[in-house]
Amino acid sequence: MHRRLFVYDEQSCSFVEAGFSPTRRYVAFLGFFLLGAVLSALILWLLSPVLGTPAETALRAENEALRRQMEQTQDRIQSLQARLEELVRRDEELYRVLLGARPVDPEVRQAAVGGAEAYRFLNVFSSPAAAALRQTLKRLDQLERQIQLQQHSFAELRRLLQEREKLLPALPAIVPVQGTLVSGFGRRFHPILRIVRDHEGVDFIAPPGTPVYATGDGIVLRAETGGGYGNHIVIEHGFGYTTLYGHLRAFAPGMRPGRRVKRGEVIGYIGNTGLSTGPHLHYEVRRFDRPLNPLHFFLADISPARYQALREAAERSRLSLD
Ligand SMILES: [Zn+2]
Repeated sequence: MHRRLFVYDEQSCSFVEAGFSPTRRYVAFLGFFLLGAVLSALILWLLSPVLGTPAETALRAENEALRRQMEQTQDRIQSLQARLEELVRRDEELYRVLLGARPVDPEVRQAAVGGAEAYRFLNVFSSPAAAALRQTLKRLDQLERQIQLQQHSFAELRRLLQEREKLLPALPAIVPVQGTLVSGFGRRFHPILRIVRDHEGVDFIAPPGTPVYATGDGIVLRAETGGGYGNHIVIEHGFGYTTLYGHLRAFAPGMRPGRRVKRGEVIGYIGNTGLSTGPHLHYEVRRFDRPLNPLHFFLADISPARYQALREAAERSRLSLD
């Protein structure tokens, strides 16, 4: 039932039915409209975490796409790391062993990078995306460090290889003359001085004029006449090695200091110059000027049986031709 409202009108001294003026209707309408708007905004605000604005929805989708991208990036980093580890294994088990290099300290190989501090700038982000980014950066840093280590290691091996390539042809590894070994290295009775003293090389006898060969690549240091060794040549091979060839009858053409010689090249001829009791070659090997037994270097050049025969011959004679 509709309730009717009356007001007392003082002019007409009677009750008249109350009605709304157009202005009051307008104000009431505006009030309802504003209330409705405020209530709607309130409801939307309360629901916004669930629904999200269109901009937020777009951002969320982008975030998700980035997160997936990050996961794929991590997978690629992991596969790169696996390939690098294969290189490291080959380095340790093959190259370093072949070249006689010491293994890289495992602690150095494993050394971690940074620490939590290095990625502190990411702490302003709290999302899982920031955690994933931190993980990715850490792995990249590790990868970079491992690659650096590997580069150093390969550079070291390359240097060793280059040295070895030069060392092998330089070693005095062949027998210097086709002759008979008659006197070995060590204490011997000197046939001219008539005392026992260190024989600092080995003696080979061969007919005069038999060619004498350089036993390793090197440079002629001396090609001199006179003195106890008579006509003699000293070759410097590098790595501290020198060889001496004494009592030569003559030098091969062009043998003078500074001349480069190859292993097996003829440098002179068997003779009997200097303090010598017959045509023979006195041959010495020295490292940093310390005399070494030349026999030890022939092992690569001759058969074990011939080496054994040479050793026995060297031991038998207590006398040197010097
Ligand atoms: Zn000798």
